[in-house]
Amino acid sequence: MIRHLVLVLGDQLDRRSAALDGFDPAHDAIWMAEVAEEATHVWSHKARIAIFLSAMRHHRDWLRQQGYTVLYRALDDPQNGGSFATELTRAVRQYQPRKLIVVEPGEWRVLQSLKQTAQQLGVPLEIRPDRHFLISIEDFRRHAAQRKQLRLEFFYREMRQRTGILMEGKQPLGGAWNYDAENRRSFGKSGPGIVPRPIGFAPDAITQEVIRLVEARFPSHPGSLRDFDWAVTPEDAERALDDFIENRLPLFGPYQDAMWTGEPYLYHSRLSSAMNLKLLDPRLAIQKAVDALVQKHAPLQSVEGFVRQILGWREYVRGVYWLHMPEYLERNALNAHANLPAFYWTGDAEMNCLREVIGQTLRYGFAHHIQRLMVTGLYALLLGVAPKQVHQWYLAIYVDAVEWVELPNVYGMSQFADGGLMASKPYIASGKYIQRMSNYCAGCRYKPDKAVGADACPFTTLYWDFLMRHEATFENHPRLGQQVRNLRRLSDAERAAIRRQAAQLRGD
Ligand SMILES: Cc1cc2nc3c(=O)[nH]c(=O)nc-3n(C[C@H](O)[C@H](O)[C@H](O)COP(=O)(O)OP(=O)(O)OC[C@H]3O[C@@H](n4cnc5c(N)ncnc54)[C@H](O)[C@@H]3O)c2cc1C
Ligand code: SF4
Repeated sequence: MIRHLVLVLGDQLDRRSAALDGFDPAHDAIWMAEVAEEATHVWSHKARIAIFLSAMRHHRDWLRQQGYTVLYRALDDPQNGGSFATELTRAVRQYQPRKLIVVEPGEWRVLQSLKQTAQQLGVPLEIRPDRHFLISIEDFRRHAAQRKQLRLEFFYREMRQRTGILMEGKQPLGGAWNYDAENRRSFGKSGPGIVPRPIGFAPDAITQEVIRLVEARFPSHPGSLRDFDWAVTPEDAERALDDFIENRLPLFGPYQDAMWTGEPYLYHSRLSSAMNLKLLDPRLAIQKAVDALVQKHAPLQSVEGFVRQILGWREYVRGVYWLHMPEYLERNALNAHANLPAFYWTGDAEMNCLREVIGQTLRYGFAHHIQRLMVTGLYALLLGVAPKQVHQWYLAIYVDAVEWVELPNVYGMSQFADGGLMASKPYIASGKYIQRMSNYCAGCRYKPDKAVGADACPFTTLYWDFLMRHEATFENHPRLGQQVRNLRRLSDAERAAIRRQAAQLRGD
């Protein structure tokens, strides 16, 4: 008999977790389970499965070293029932706890499943707030209730004021709230030169075992484990943070939007998976970046850019997710119904930018923000792919994918499926944007400035086609009006030719 059964889910590996408050080793136990359902409800990249399992096993061992009793169900245990509901039911029947305790899960589906299982078993479920985040779900609701429209910029400013981060009294440090205009540089023809490689972590015995398990159990899943070197403990995560601050933060700002062949990370931090698994406290990441500013190691434009992503975007998308689930998942404001092209799962695309970004994604389980937004996301948006299919791909394919952060990024920022609830406009562009921000077009058989013909860039064709299809929706949009006005310079014959070519690309 157990008093409290404390549930620790795969993305809740926080050593300071509220779930551990009041834990009595004489009467309580921790429950953790590796279940196949979490790897298969979307067709997960092998590296995504491996990072979760390895980090969970490391956390289990740390908990045991600290004296906690951990009831742990491994994936390869012959008794494993394969889902949270079956495993939890079995544990509750066996140990008959008086109460279940869990921290707010990161996914609406998991929260429902836990609530239902607890109810069916007749055992109370206590849900504690996740202190990993800088703003609670309730405070975000209050923020949202005061506004007609949600926008990152207002939320971010409020968070800066609330926390005092990068503030001088009531004013933003340096006089401006953001340096976005200075943070859009590309590398030019000469390329990025030598970019310091991010620190990697060679798989230890636990990770090696997990890699073997994933290869054996999920052989047909996408992606490779050959290069797996992700942080799977808080110690690794802090070393990864230090490495970023030392070597890449100074140029993070200016080159945030740049892309280059064979460079999956450039000046990005590569910290999202560690933060989403709760191995790394976002406050520490922010503090170390601010320290680098104080020590004049990194300029304000880079430090502010990095802080904005974590204090702003990361907290904002979580708020949007919990404010609007589950109806958010059903949104499809642009009425998009095409299928996701099969090459998203193989990288076998003729378009060089997509081949590079998807190839890199399959190899590492990672692409940086602008690759996700302005290559894979943009193509799906312009093609008119059903948002749910795009969501299922993003949730499956990245090591940092957890639904609270993935879904608003896909529906809100990338696909405009929420109709502008989260972002002020759809992020659309032609192939010329990709040409300006990368060297992908130089190695491509298509021409980014051509919309029609055998060598027309599919992004450019679909860009004009998108504007034509949604002309009435966006003609009065304050931030897209110019793009719609440019469309009106096209003759009827040019429009018809673009429509024909776009239909071919969609396979209509
Ligand atoms: C279509 C799409 C899907 C995405 N899916 C995910 C996802 O599943 N998981 C995920 O963590 N991020 C997601 N993002 C956001 C972002 O692309 C990644 O957080 C980032 O690329 C991770 O790399 P990094 O750690 O090097 O980030 P950096 O560029 O170094 O940024 C620093 C940190 O800021 C946070 N951050 C940056 N941008 C965002 C954002 N838009 N939303 C929330 N947090 C942000 C991350 O925690 C990141 O580690 C998605 C973005 C898009 C456009
Ligand atoms: S020409 Fe078009 S398809 Fe080719 S790399 Fe450039 S943007 Fe991508």
